[in-house]
Amino acid sequence: MECPNCKSTNVGKIGNNLYFCRDCNCEIKIKKCTAVVSMYDAEGCVTKRFKVCYNA
Ligand SMILES: [Zn+2]
Repeated sequence: MECPNCKSTNVGKIGNNLYFCRDCNCEIKIKKCTAVVSMYDAEGCVTKRFKVCYNA
């Protein structure tokens, strides 16, 4: 899949409907046709969270 945030394909599956982008350190949770993207800083705190439309 493609990262909805940075468009990188360096995305790994870490769980059920859960992905992680290694390029921008964001977690992507897929819910039907919506992707919830959570951005993390170096300490592992969520700095930003947003939803995007996602077509599998
Ligand atoms: Zn990314």
